[in-house]
Amino acid sequence: MRRLGFFGGTFDPVHLGHLVPAVRAFETFRFDALVFVPAFNPPHKLAEPLTAFSHRFAMLALATQPYERFLLSAVEAERKGPTYTVDTLRQLRERVSVEQVYFLMGSDSFSQIGEWHRWQELVSLAHLVVLHRDTVWGEELAARVPGELRGRMRNVEPFHEVPDPEPGSNWIYLLQHEPFPVSATQLRERLRLGRSIHELVPPEVHRYIVKHRLYHQGGEPGNEI
Ligand code: ATP
Repeated sequence: MRRLGFFGGTFDPVHLGHLVPAVRAFETFRFDALVFVPAFNPPHKLAEPLTAFSHRFAMLALATQPYERFLLSAVEAERKGPTYTVDTLRQLRERVSVEQVYFLMGSDSFSQIGEWHRWQELVSLAHLVVLHRDTVWGEELAARVPGELRGRMRNVEPFHEVPDPEPGSNWIYLLQHEPFPVSATQLRERLRLGRSIHELVPPEVHRYIVKHRLYHQGGEPGNEI
């Protein structure tokens, strides 16, 4: 396999802010496959109760089903204790033989990369593809990341061809797409207030949320790991 992309996150729930930029990245980098990797027990979100992994996984399965080359991995559910992206990426790399590995993340996540567990190792395992979130971008983003990463950052226009990097180099690609300003936090809040999220998630995901009464107040089923 030539190019493989991974997209990690809690996906609680998956929404169009994940899917639309993921399609842009997929088309731009011409991945052979893009694997969504839902986090099981992410250390940075331990303070908030996550929806059960089985629900988050099921919603991702529904959302990615229409895309032939969008795949799903439950690798994080196989490990006990906090799950670190660097370990997941290493494990995934060992399982698949691939020339170039890319890890997708929003610019808000990238702005905090210096706080990630063993981040130097993480950025040596994959190229990063940074998706545009309107909360942080441009000079502000560059100023927030560790200085040694700035020289590796490259702007990429959506759908423009990206040449293969020289062997041994790892780049950080900033994908210059229009931001899609939606977050899972916003969606959960809207649902709690009884407002519609119809246009912001795929219809299958919406039906699933309604059927399982997720994200409602008062300890409804599903609001624990
Ligand atoms: P929450 O609001 O619960 O923190 P989220 O909407 O940020 O959730 P996550 O599952 O935490 O979603 O995100 C997974 C990855 O997708 C992260 O790297 C995040 O930055 C990125 N991402 C989330 N929403 C968007 C968006 N609208 N545009 C670009 N990237 C996004």
